[in-house]
Amino acid sequence: MHPETASIHAGQEIDPTTGAVIPPIYLTTTFERASDGSFPRGYIYTRNGNPNRAMLETCLAALEGGATCVAFSSGLAAAMSVFQALRPGDHVIAPDDAYHGITRLLREIMAPWGLEYSRVDMRDPQNVAAALRPNTRLVWIETPSNPLLKIADIAAIAEIARQAGALCAVDNTWATPVQQRPLELGADIVMHATTKYIGGHSDVLGGAVVFGANDAFAERVRFLQINGGAVPSPFDCWLALRGIQTLPYRVRAHAANAIQVARFLAEHPRIERVHYPGLETHPGHAVAARQMRGFGGMLSIEVEGGEAEAMAVAAKVKIITRATSLGGVESLIEHRASVEGPESTTPPNLLRISVGLEHPDDLIADLAQALT
Ligand SMILES: *Cc1c(COP(=O)(O)O)cnc(C)c1O
Repeated sequence: MHPETASIHAGQEIDPTTGAVIPPIYLTTTFERASDGSFPRGYIYTRNGNPNRAMLETCLAALEGGATCVAFSSGLAAAMSVFQALRPGDHVIAPDDAYHGITRLLREIMAPWGLEYSRVDMRDPQNVAAALRPNTRLVWIETPSNPLLKIADIAAIAEIARQAGALCAVDNTWATPVQQRPLELGADIVMHATTKYIGGHSDVLGGAVVFGANDAFAERVRFLQINGGAVPSPFDCWLALRGIQTLPYRVRAHAANAIQVARFLAEHPRIERVHYPGLETHPGHAVAARQMRGFGGMLSIEVEGGEAEAMAVAAKVKIITRATSLGGVESLIEHRASVEGPESTTPPNLLRISVGLEHPDDLIADLAQALT
């Protein structure tokens, strides 16, 4: 199935009891046993499994071309389950530029638990090879990265991981399965914050992990989902699945708007740098063009002058909203260093923009007036 069809039909069958075209929300915590004590319909208790969660997982697995998917209550819960499925003493290679919550998870939760990790610049796959240790079990990629839009070559890094006997996981939140399918490029695991483009309307938190194979590692992550308990509610799953139905069309429109905004900003005298892989001048453009179908809706800019000037630009936007997060229909702008806190290595003059689905001319006019 093409993504346009899978997003509407995978996991989404006509309700067998009532014929409802849109699935009901199964707001139940528990399910009846048969007289012999068995669970003939497969469901026991909603932490273990719920029809809405099963629909979402089936659809996400189909979109990524995976064998199975495990859904969580947030992107970070999904990421943590992958790290927790490793063992204390194992080593992880992670990007130097990544969603700050992933970096904090490794530094402040997983390292005290016993996981070793290194952070490397993944724009050069050789940096990953150089960071390998005998106990390296996982290479974690985020591409395009957050907030610098660095591009990592998934196929090259997955091959380095494979030869070292390590798993390769890709945080595919920014690209979405519409524009990047890491399992086809050799990765073993794909992680999503469904909070972002997949939900798509800034109204639901969620996360998911998709596996190329339904193997012991995937089973361990499912065990952590059920027994750790960071599960999404039936309504969360319903909202995420409702968002997915328009995902391919939304993502393409986000990307079409983003390239126009990026081109405008690249020409602007007050902007020192535009980080957007769709620009031919972006150092990762060639790799992105090879491994992505479109370049996403996220970009970052560095404003001439420094932090105060960047803050002043963010203060003046009228249509674009000053808020964190991304992937919703509305455009958002954010001074990233201040949300990341004292450990941030993000340039202080950097603003991150989630380009929404407003008319691009209105977004450009808004930025133009904010830059005067
Ligand atoms: C938002 C985000 C996360 C974390 O997701 P939450 O749902 O906020 O926990 C992880 N990775 C990336 C790239 C993100 O943008």
